[in-house]
Amino acid sequence: MAKLLVFVEQRDGKAKKSSFELIAAAAKAGHETHAVLIGASVSGLAGECAQYGAQAVHAVENASLDKYTSDAYAKALQGAIKALSPEIVLASHTPMGKDLMPYLSALCDAGLASDCTSLEFDGAKLKLKRPLYSGKATAEVEFLGGGLQLATIRPNAIGLPKPDTSKSATATALSVDVSGTKGKCLEVQKGASTRPDVTESSIVVSGGRSLKTAENFKILEELADAVQGAVGASRAAVDAGLRPHRDQVGQTGKVVAPQLYIAAGISGAIQHLAGMRTSKVIVAINSDPQAPIFQIADYAIVGDLFQVVPAITAEIKKL
Ligand SMILES: Cc1cc2nc3c(=O)[nH]c(=O)nc-3n(C[C@H](O)[C@H](O)[C@H](O)COP(=O)(O)OP(=O)(O)OC[C@H]3O[C@@H](n4cnc5c(N)ncnc54)[C@H](O)[C@@H]3O)c2cc1C
Repeated sequence: MAKLLVFVEQRDGKAKKSSFELIAAAAKAGHETHAVLIGASVSGLAGECAQYGAQAVHAVENASLDKYTSDAYAKALQGAIKALSPEIVLASHTPMGKDLMPYLSALCDAGLASDCTSLEFDGAKLKLKRPLYSGKATAEVEFLGGGLQLATIRPNAIGLPKPDTSKSATATALSVDVSGTKGKCLEVQKGASTRPDVTESSIVVSGGRSLKTAENFKILEELADAVQGAVGASRAAVDAGLRPHRDQVGQTGKVVAPQLYIAAGISGAIQHLAGMRTSKVIVAINSDPQAPIFQIADYAIVGDLFQVVPAITAEIKKL
């Protein structure tokens, strides 16, 4: 059994569910699971951490931590590590996790396995898998020697169990000196979209160039709404101005690992697969039976997406 610390990412006082995935997986594996919250006023999230399995919740609260900066958050997390002496520290492979953990790795002089798609343990040792070469190969990663083990895990890679709402917790304050850091967040510019982000949804409905117009994406939005999913897009669709870049899935877009990925009118170029091939179930809709996407699809629907997608939406609404 290891002493394990999960960095719980939050924005505006709302925690990312991918952080809870890590807490739940660590607790299920029988580890002494601690959660750490960092921000200006974050201790209110302690109860949720406990409901997913955290045995103890710690908060590094400071007005200067209101907005994320790499150096201040890394220093806060390093302080938590010094105070708690965990053997393992986990974070989600989100834009924040991707930025924070290499910084922390350098500060703590510890190894980091990033963008892992599985989380297993051999006693107190992490046993991880991480995709390489756009997902064409998978590396099995273990840490050699002793010392702190750091890892980031792709959101949705593990799955989220139901919380135990009978549990509650109070965060223990950790006093960490974060003065003297150089980074400063001047402004946060939020995107106009209110739709869920592709990296956070357990269902993603993506469309390609074949949608032809931005308005036509409405049929994918209707399906996404019916399944409470997010809408993604291929780069060709984004380059054609049909969707914003925030929705792009792939090598030069976002990497997703949802429980269900529906690709409508997407050919399945290697650069697109790099962003979605670790999805648990892949449904492809394409009029070309030879489309490469069918090679990795669990369910292949050969047909015109303009007929197939509304038909699926109608059936789901009936259910
Ligand atoms: C360096 C680099 C990075 C890249 N990064 C990315 C990336 O991050 N993400 C990404 O997606 N791409 C990326 N690409 C581009 C990638 O190579 C492909 O060009 C792109 O993914 C193709 O998008 P598409 O499938 O929408 O379009 P197309 O290749 O044009 O495919 C359209 C598909 O729709 C089907 N179709 C047409 N009409 C219908 C219909 N009515 N009903 C059903 N099916 C229909 C066709 O049979 C076809 O398979 C990158 C390329 C490079 C070189």
